[in-house]
Amino acid sequence: MLKDILEYQKIDVALFEIERGLINSAEFKEAHKMQQFLKQCEESLSKMEKQSAELLGFFNQALKAYDATAKRALEVEKAASTDEKAIGNFNKILDEISKLEKSINALNKNMVDISKKYDDIAKKSTAAKKAFLENRQAVEQKKKDKAGEITRLQTELKAASAKVSKDYLEKYKALRKENKVPAYVELLSKKKCGGCRMDLALNKLDKLKEKGSTIECEHCKRIVYNF
Ligand SMILES: [Zn+2]
Repeated sequence: MLKDILEYQKIDVALFEIERGLINSAEFKEAHKMQQFLKQCEESLSKMEKQSAELLGFFNQALKAYDATAKRALEVEKAASTDEKAIGNFNKILDEISKLEKSINALNKNMVDISKKYDDIAKKSTAAKKAFLENRQAVEQKKKDKAGEITRLQTELKAASAKVSKDYLEKYKALRKENKVPAYVELLSKKKCGGCRMDLALNKLDKLKEKGSTIECEHCKRIVYNF
């Protein structure tokens, strides 16, 4: 009977509001925000670790090339005091050395920059983790505070559900899943759905004239009744 599902709904709405209260609490939202931020931090840090490793590889290669070129420079320098061709070679090598120095300095600067960014994000990540844990704990505390009430309502709900017809209950649960609570709503102004407040089709309204009957709102799919 309609009366039974409405009784069931009354209890479930109270439960639903407790759930909503937790989800809409500032602490829950903050914890969620921090969780998202931590995910971003993790991604950035792992990306930077890869970049650092790559830069270090380039840096070591450049250092090796620098050492080899400096050694060659020393050898050529000995001959360069007399041999004109050797002087040309020596100058070329000096050019190479200066280019290598520049790229080593640039790589070094990049590595320092990344390292600074990494430390900055790591610090922010630590702070976010702390904030996340604090807020999650606050949400857990709120849940604990409501635990007695939740258990009482759940017991009442179970008892009430035994009286409700299967068809009514299934419809209710499907709508509840979509957060359409209350799912069973009164007819408003003799023509509107009490949930979404849209006008109902005339042929459907005819069906509602029968006492205890229900129709499905074509707009929001809630069940409309008329006493
Ligand atoms: Zn509706």
